[in-house]
Amino acid sequence: AQGLMAGKRGLVMGVANNRSIAWGIAKAIHAHGGTVGFTYQGDALRKRVEPLAAELGGLVAGHCDVTDTASLDACFAKVEEEWGGIDFLVHAIAFSDKDELTGRYVDTSEQNFSKTMLISCYSLTAVAQRAEKLMNKGGSILTLTYYGAEKVMPHYNVMGVAKAALEASVRYLAVDLGPKGIRVNAISAGPIKTLAASGIGDFRYILKWNEYNAPLRRTVTTDEVGDVGLYLCSDLSRSVTGEIHHADSGYHVVGMKAVDAPDI
Ligand code: NAD
Repeated sequence: AQGLMAGKRGLVMGVANNRSIAWGIAKAIHAHGGTVGFTYQGDALRKRVEPLAAELGGLVAGHCDVTDTASLDACFAKVEEEWGGIDFLVHAIAFSDKDELTGRYVDTSEQNFSKTMLISCYSLTAVAQRAEKLMNKGGSILTLTYYGAEKVMPHYNVMGVAKAALEASVRYLAVDLGPKGIRVNAISAGPIKTLAASGIGDFRYILKWNEYNAPLRRTVTTDEVGDVGLYLCSDLSRSVTGEIHHADSGYHVVGMKAVDAPDI
């Protein structure tokens, strides 16, 4: 294979369907010569992920629910058996109870707080521990975050708190793994209508708000986030680690509603 990712192999975790951000990243890596392995969460998603993986001639590493350590270990064992090592790992996994992605943050339950933190934040560290063992020549670990980590966004609630902790994890992991040549970064993506996003209250309003107020006056696509993912997984970003890279049409630099923004 030729291209930026020629000779590179890695795992993309978090494809649910062809609208997933993880799928956008996988396609970009494949288009540039990389080989991609996939995990899926449960049998329902297996039916969606298997044909997508086949489209890219990728490896299916198996079922992985990050709350089930055995499934996590099995996927990494499969990858090690097939490939020996990996060059990149994409973590595009988050979950919170839909009932708490609306209303007030202050009403968050202890149970959902813990679950959200485990799936959306700790899981990055869990996969980094396993990826470290497979990245003997260095590598790139990438996760996905959102602006709700930095500023309060309507309905994002406990997920915003989890993303803030995830972004801090990126920095700590970058320092721990840097001496081994392993880089750890995040893309802070603008809002995109995916399966996970459909759980967030008033999501259409949020999309419109971004479209009217972002410097580029539009939202972003999974293919565009995919291209940023390609950069962060490739050697083009070899000097970059611990970074939260915004792919949001510039929304995060804006301090106020645009004067020309229509009412929504
Ligand atoms: P998506 O629904 O396509 O992907 C979410 C993935 O998380 C799914 O594949 C799901 O199987 C996986 N997942 C959830 N719980 C899991 C568990 N216990 N074990 C293993 N996998 C689990 O939605 P998406 O929007 O592509 O989300 C990918 C990432 O991008 C998430 O971290 C999300 O927070 C982040 N993100 C999304 C947006 C957006 O607007 N869509 C914006 C910024 C960041």
